Amino acid sequence: MPVQARPVPILSDNYAWLLTDSGTGAVAIVDPADAAACITAIEHAGGRLDLILLTHHHADHVAGTDAVRERFGCPVVGAAADAHRLPALDRAVRSGDEVALGAAKAQVLDTPGHTVGHISFYFPDGGVLICGDTLFSLGCGRLLEGTAAQMFGSLHAFAALPPETLVCCGHEYTAANARFALAVDPDNAALRQRAAEIKAEREAGRPTLPARLGSELALNPFMRAPDVAAFADLRARKDRF
Ligand code: ZN
Ligand code: FE
Repeated sequence: MPVQARPVPILSDNYAWLLTDSGTGAVAIVDPADAAACITAIEHAGGRLDLILLTHHHADHVAGTDAVRERFGCPVVGAAADAHRLPALDRAVRSGDEVALGAAKAQVLDTPGHTVGHISFYFPDGGVLICGDTLFSLGCGRLLEGTAAQMFGSLHAFAALPPETLVCCGHEYTAANARFALAVDPDNAALRQRAAEIKAEREAGRPTLPARLGSELALNPFMRAPDVAAFADLRARKDRF
């Protein structure tokens, strides 16, 4: 039975993600930086929480972790490489490990670039990719610690997943990312169409996420960069945009 993913808007433009294994009813929350907002979302979803997943150590992803753990008494899973700067981990994982949510299993992927210890979680059953600040819709995370080569490699690991995969990222940056994508690729009709859809979603107060991986492969300039040098140039241009 597939995993279902729902964005929980928190802070100014972050998303925590509420994941439900529809077979067992098991529930996880991803990056619960705002404990009160996440606890409210969990209560509305039935008041069950089995697991907390963390993508990376930044405060806008982990700040509410201990309060949510205390409220529901559930384990916290995060990167072994960053255990020293994450909230206390009940389970420290690395690339290749599996994490169970009810009957569903997530594969842990090392996805350095935004930070060196950043990890992502992929649930094949349901096609849910939890990618934090690595891949955004029409964008990617800033290189705060890692190299362009690391981020390029992380994005290309995602590119191997099925195109229908749901991209569940950590921020609602899509509208601003669309403006940059159109600035570098102004004649792309499909991109213009997507940008118009994004604008309509935001004006209606709806999240633009999750996005489909296939759409990102076709339209996200960072996913389309042919090599590390082109990717690095694009990332530098976005930083100045
Ligand atoms: Zn971050
Ligand atoms: Fe962030």
